[in-house]
Amino acid sequence: MVNKSKIKAIAAFSGGLDSILAIKIVLEQDIDIIALNFKTSFCRWDKSNNDCTGSSIKRMADHLGVEFKAVYLGDDYLEMVRDPKYGYGKNINPCIDCRIFKFKVVKKIMDEIGASFVITGEVLGQRPMSQHRRSLTLIEKESGLEGLILRPLSAKLFSLTIPEEKGWVNRDNLLDISGRTRKPQIELAKQYGIRDYPTPAGGCLLTDKYFSKRLRDLFKFGNTYSKDLELLKVGRHFRISNQFKLIVGRDEQENQRILDLSEKGDLFFEPLELSGPSALGKGIYDENIKEVSSKIIARYTSLNEKVKVITKIISEDKELIFDVFALEDSKIKEILI
Ligand code: SF4
Repeated sequence: MVNKSKIKAIAAFSGGLDSILAIKIVLEQDIDIIALNFKTSFCRWDKSNNDCTGSSIKRMADHLGVEFKAVYLGDDYLEMVRDPKYGYGKNINPCIDCRIFKFKVVKKIMDEIGASFVITGEVLGQRPMSQHRRSLTLIEKESGLEGLILRPLSAKLFSLTIPEEKGWVNRDNLLDISGRTRKPQIELAKQYGIRDYPTPAGGCLLTDKYFSKRLRDLFKFGNTYSKDLELLKVGRHFRISNQFKLIVGRDEQENQRILDLSEKGDLFFEPLELSGPSALGKGIYDENIKEVSSKIIARYTSLNEKVKVITKIISEDKELIFDVFALEDSKIKEILI
C-alpha cells in the first residue's frame, strides 16, 4: 500500500478553469499540491488594479486550499520569446518553447522541494500549437519530465504516467476530455460548485495581434527594459523614426500610466488649455520629430483646428509650445504600430 500522504505534486496553475479542475481532481486523491503560477512581462495590465491579475489567482489557490507559489520569468524568458527554437503560433506566441521553458523551471523546483510529479490542466487538442499529442510529447521530453506530467482532464487518452503506475493516483478517477469544446469543463465546474473563473486564454499578450506587432517593433528598434515592455500595454503607438517612438494615451488612466512609466530624458506632450491625450516620446529626436509628434496629439484632441501642444523633457524644466494642425489620418495609419 502506497503512503500517499507523503506524495507532493506541483500544479502548473494559470488560475483558469482547466487548471482549477485539474487540481480539484487530484486533491480528491489525497495528494499534497503546490500551485505554481508563472508571471512574465506579458500578462495584461489591469486598469482597475494597476497590475496583472496575480491577486485573484492567489485567492483562487487559497479557495482550493493549496499552497501557492509565484515565479517571475525575466530576461531568459524574454530571450526565448525573441528567438524561439520551435517558432511562433499565429502571433508572437512561442507556445512550444514557452511550455518547455516553464516545465524546466517546474522540474528545478520539483527537485528542490521533493515533489514527485506535475499536474497540468492541459486538454488534448484544445490549443492549436502546444496541446497536440506530438507537441505534448516533445515538450515533456525536452523539459526532462517524461512520464511525470499528469493531465487529469485528458489522462485516459494518454499512456500511463509514472504517478499512475506507482499507484499515487488512481487512473479510474481521471478523465478523457479532448478538443476545443468547453462543455465538459463547465459541467464539471458546476458539479464542484466552482464559479467566477476567468475566461480561457485571456491572459497572454503574446497571442494578441496588436501587442505582437508592437513587440516585434520593439525587438527591431527598441530596448526591452521592463518599462518599455510595460509601455507596450498602454495607448496608441507610433513609429516616427527608427530611433523614436511616440505613445499616446487613450484616456485619463492611460495618460497617468504613461507618465508613471516615463524616464529621464523622455519627451512628454500634452495639449495646452484643452483636455486631450498625453503622450510620451522615447528615443532620439529633433525639432521635426517633436512637431510631427505634436501633430499626432492634435489629431486626438476634440478640436479640429489649430492646437497648442506643450513639449517637455522629463526631469528638465525646458518646455516648448507647438502651434499645430492635426496630422492627416492617412499619415497616422502609416506610422501606427
Ligand atoms: S499562450 Fe502565452 S503563456 Fe500560453 S503557452 Fe503560449 S506563449 Fe506561453
